[in-house]
Parts: sequence; C-alpha cells; structure tokens
Amino acid sequence: MKYRSVAVDGPSGAGKSTISREVAGRLGFIYADTGALYRAVGLRFLETGSLGLGSLELSIRFVNGEQRVFDGGRDVTEEIRRHEVSKAASDCSALPEVRAFLLDRQRKLAEGYDVIMDGRDIGTVVLPEADLKIFLTASPEDRARRRFEQLERGYKIARSRGVEPDGGLCPPPPYGRILQDILSRDHNDTTREEAPLRPAPDAVFLDTTGNTFEQSAAIIEGLIRERLGL
Ligand code: C5P
Repeated sequence: MKYRSVAVDGPSGAGKSTISREVAGRLGFIYADTGALYRAVGLRFLETGSLGLGSLELSIRFVNGEQRVFDGGRDVTEEIRRHEVSKAASDCSALPEVRAFLLDRQRKLAEGYDVIMDGRDIGTVVLPEADLKIFLTASPEDRARRRFEQLERGYKIARSRGVEPDGGLCPPPPYGRILQDILSRDHNDTTREEAPLRPAPDAVFLDTTGNTFEQSAAIIEGLIRERLGL
C-alpha cells in the first residue's frame, strides 16, 4: 500500500504545528513534527555542552496518534518546548552532521503512515516526492504574537498542574524578545548552507497573516482533500 504524505514547511511560529496537528486529526493522518527532533538535539547540547550524536538514542513514538520524543528511556516531549531550547535547536540544525543524522529518522516516520510532516526542508529534502507541499508563512510580528500566546498558555497549564519552578516552569519572555528571537532564527534558517529554509518550486505558498487558526486550518484541509481526492 502506498501511503500519502503532505509536507508543510515555513518559518518559526507560522502555525505549522498546530494547524498540521489539527488537520491530520480530521483526516486520520499521523502528524510528524520534525522540529521536535532538532529540539531534542538542542536540549542535549544545552545540557551537556556537546552534540554527542553517537550516544543520542532518539526515538519517536505515537501514543494515541500523538508524537512523543524520547532520548533513550527519557521522555523529553515537554522539555524540548522550553524557549531556550528553540535557539539551541536552530544553532544545531545548521550543522551538516546533525541534518544527516536526522534525515533517515524523518523519512522512516513517513514510511508506515499517511502523514502530514512539518519542518523547514520537508518538501525540498526529506520528502521531495510528497503528494502535496505547502509553504506556510506569516509576518514576523504575527508569528511572535502567536508564539507568545502559545508559551503563555503552556505556562498557565503547567502552573495549574502544580509544576515546580525547578521542573522547568518559567514565565514566557516578553513579546519583544520573542520577536527578536524569531527574526534571528529566520536569519539562521534561511542563510545556512545546508538545506536552507525556502519553498520547494512546486509548493503551494500560503501567507496566514491576519487569519484565524480556523481559517488557515480550513484552507489547508481543503488543499489536501482536493489534491489527494479525499
Ligand atoms: O519547528 P521548530 O521551531 O520546533 O524547530 C526548531 C528548529 O529546528 C528550527 O528553528 C529550525 O532551525 C530547526 N529545524 C530544521 N529543519 C526541520 C525542522 C526544524 O532545521 N525540518
């Protein structure tokens, strides 16, 4: 059986993950978040000061359709969302050995499932044969605002669950710093030599500035249904 694949690429905070997760759920596809793998590498680097790819035992498991990321036996799914891990992931992702290390792992994710996979180079490098490629973007200000709201929501949920401050609980940085970080990650991601962020020539380009989440999700669901005849 041939499985279907949809590649969603774009800059940080464009809404790729929330929209892809939602639409994958509606269509019965698996949602694969490749940024999580780069984040797991970034987390390891932050914690140990070295990449240690040889001893990094990354695995992805789908629990009730939800992706969870493990480093050996340790579930790092929540920790890799920390703000400082974003920068470390972006820095590590420029290294050719990191990209090569993660390439097969990402392709394997698409082998046994109908999948919506999001990242920076899915349509150009990881799944160049994807049935549909979407390049999702929005203005830096819109993306920073959404990222701020997402971090704030995560913080409130963690606090309501009684997570201790030394358990990774810290308030989100101010909007201005998030905007700065987004601009700097955009710069990193688009100017690196290895697999820079850019739309595949055959990608559908979608700017979601000013859209609600529901509007963007409906557009993407429609594009997929039309292309795949669902
Ligand atoms: O998407 P997310 O923000 O979680 O990704 C974290 C970082 O990983 C990005 O800033 C980007 O540098 C890197 N990344 C990448 N290629 C991918 C996915 C993520 O370079 N396919």
